[in-house]
Amino acid sequence: MPLMTLMPTIFISHGAPTLVTDRGRTPDFLRALSQALPLPRAILCISAHWETEQPMLTGSSAPPTIHDFMGFPQELYAMHYRAPGDPALALRAQALLNTAELNATLHPQRGLDHGAWVPLMLAYPQAEIPVVQLSVQPQRSPAHHFALGRALRPLRDDGVLILASGAATHNLREFRGQAVNTAPPDYVLEFDAWLTAAITRGDVAELLDYPTHAPHALRNHPTPEHFLPLFVALGAADSATGRALHEDFNYGILSMAAYAWND
Ligand code: ZN
Repeated sequence: MPLMTLMPTIFISHGAPTLVTDRGRTPDFLRALSQALPLPRAILCISAHWETEQPMLTGSSAPPTIHDFMGFPQELYAMHYRAPGDPALALRAQALLNTAELNATLHPQRGLDHGAWVPLMLAYPQAEIPVVQLSVQPQRSPAHHFALGRALRPLRDDGVLILASGAATHNLREFRGQAVNTAPPDYVLEFDAWLTAAITRGDVAELLDYPTHAPHALRNHPTPEHFLPLFVALGAADSATGRALHEDFNYGILSMAAYAWND
């Protein structure tokens, strides 16, 4: 077996499902992402769009593509990301989580939601790298999600890319049909700047307690599910000091920021 490269951990903002067919800086960034990273043996993707009470992992050897959105162009519903699953990786991840008393289970049929397959289709269009998806627990804390990442950290030694997919800012209640290239309002810019600064200096305590420290935390994340994947990527890193990989804003309300640790 070839010696595996220690993989970085990544957080990306996946935006709207139309990202996969859009032209723009963020689809371009995702299309170039695989060239910037070592080739993973497998990908463990934590997506904001699979919400469960306890951690769950996809156990299928052929996870189907879930079109978990309504009212979008028909071409999106015809897209299928046919990457294989990795049942052995799912079992290993489950064992690591349960050793840390995180009570994970496998879902035998569940497929990949658009938080996973939209960015993966851009970053790894050949769909040759096996993918296992991990759910988020919106009722649980950032510290819980950090613990998930910490428990999964050994997977990085085996060439597994831990890819967290959510949104750096995500207040859809303030989406009123504005254009994709609308300039972001101050409350979005201020949160985004705080996030990049806290990640750049590796301030885990401040990040975990973001509702206290971040400007306009609740306005940018009225519900936490799109922010929580970030803590899995942070927890799986060896060093909390990360860096911004990408900056962009969509529809004014969505920071499309991406971050890497240990890259
Ligand atoms: Zn989303």
